[in-house]
Amino acid sequence: MFEYAPAPESRSIVDIHPSYGLFVDGDFVDPEDGVRFKTVNPATEEVLAEVVAAGPRDVDRAVAAARAAHETRWSTLPGRERAKYLYRLARIVQERSRELAVLESIDNGKPIRESRDVDLPLVAAHFFYYAGWADKLGYAGFGPDPRPLGVAGQVIPWNFPLLMLAWKLAPALACGNTVVLKPAETTPLTALAFAEICQQADLPPGVVNIVTGAGETGRTLVEHPGIDKVAFTGSTEVGRQIARSVAGTTKKVTLELGGKAANVVFDDAPLDQAIEGIVNGIFFNQGHVCCAGSRLLVQESIADDLLDQLKRRLATLRLGDPLDKNTDVGAINSSEQLQRIRLLSDIGEQEGAERWSAPCELPDRGFWFPPTVFTGVTQAHRIAREEVFGPVLSVLTFRTPAEAVEKANNTPYGLSAGVWTEKGSRILWMAQRLRAGVVWANTFNRFDPSSPFGGYKESGYGREGGRHGLEAYLDV
Ligand code: NAP
Ligand code: MG
Repeated sequence: MFEYAPAPESRSIVDIHPSYGLFVDGDFVDPEDGVRFKTVNPATEEVLAEVVAAGPRDVDRAVAAARAAHETRWSTLPGRERAKYLYRLARIVQERSRELAVLESIDNGKPIRESRDVDLPLVAAHFFYYAGWADKLGYAGFGPDPRPLGVAGQVIPWNFPLLMLAWKLAPALACGNTVVLKPAETTPLTALAFAEICQQADLPPGVVNIVTGAGETGRTLVEHPGIDKVAFTGSTEVGRQIARSVAGTTKKVTLELGGKAANVVFDDAPLDQAIEGIVNGIFFNQGHVCCAGSRLLVQESIADDLLDQLKRRLATLRLGDPLDKNTDVGAINSSEQLQRIRLLSDIGEQEGAERWSAPCELPDRGFWFPPTVFTGVTQAHRIAREEVFGPVLSVLTFRTPAEAVEKANNTPYGLSAGVWTEKGSRILWMAQRLRAGVVWANTFNRFDPSSPFGGYKESGYGREGGRHGLEAYLDV
């Protein structure tokens, strides 16, 4: 492999405060009953800042601010005026995108190449896209004058912190709702930076409120009687708890949960492109992706060739400093997640699958896991059934298209799938049969704000993105 000189992005562009309050009613405030905790850089374990784990009284205050803003300011504003705010937020995100990308990589561990080229452009694109809907809701197919729901309580995970915030906030605000959002415990900093952007955009106070904290803060928010809508992205386990807690209330819910996507490669696929697609499918964002192509289904006749080529390619991936522009694989987001990846990988070996890891040196400090491939995996293995949420690929083989469909659908999840073949007819045949919300053909992990995203079965319900994403925030 080539040796590259280090090419780190400068972190002097970001100004991390030693301590942050909660963002309530347009201001940063001290907690009433919350306690403080530290957020660390997962690549170095360096403490970055102190943030608040909001308590019940803090959540109360944020919900009350959102309610007042909804009634007095936001829901009565014409759509074209709301659109102006959303365009302004989008433009400020673009202007500050380098700073936000660096901050995201520092707090999350993802490579700067990804936060800069994928996360941040998509964040801006979501705000631009939904800004365009704000004054055209009457033409969205939900009646001539669809009304907002009210106050949305939104809980997001750590894998795409700012992008998940954009997925949640943009449609909610465009439809005239106000929001209380809880970012993940391990990645609060870009949400707090976004709170500053709300101030910079002169967004009316209380329209967006950010309450940091861990699972308990999330639970308090979701169970709060003052919210009209719950939007959650995270694990299926917590999704189930939320579905139980809102049952019997009038709260509307969308759940975006886990996945165990099949990436199906036929013998007529363009192999070089398929290899890149497999790498992007499972090693993008360290595999911390709900729609990751974590199960590779490869047609038996090409399996040996494909695996040789895949391992050669994986040996060229650069793992290390997330801020280095040449880095392909960054840090695992937390020590808890690293433990989980290690545990499931060890179980893979114990259950009889064969483990191979790319030969790369892991840094001494921080949380790291090498790109890893399991072969000889059967459908009964836990690494073929459970979401590892890490850089771990399970490889299975098939002989016929029918067998590919059967194995691809043999999962409790159904968020996404990929098909690699030269034949258009086969793509359509597969897409009709795969039980997954998104089916990519000859590509993987491609996102666009105009395209709806969401799951079948235990991957959740409701759609985010596109015109479909409006429905979750309208009283229809
Ligand atoms: P998680 O616990 O479901 O976290 C998602 C969000 O929900 C976080 O903000 C979390 O707070 C919050 N939360 C936790 N318990 C809650 C509760 N009872 N009520 C309301 N909110 C609650 O997921 P995780 O612990 O970060 O990761 C565990 C596994 O979930 C991963 O290994 C992965 O398999 C899966 N996962 C999937 C996605 C996805 O995009 N589908 C994203 C993340 C994780 P905290 O920050 O304190 O946890
Ligand atoms: Mg958790």
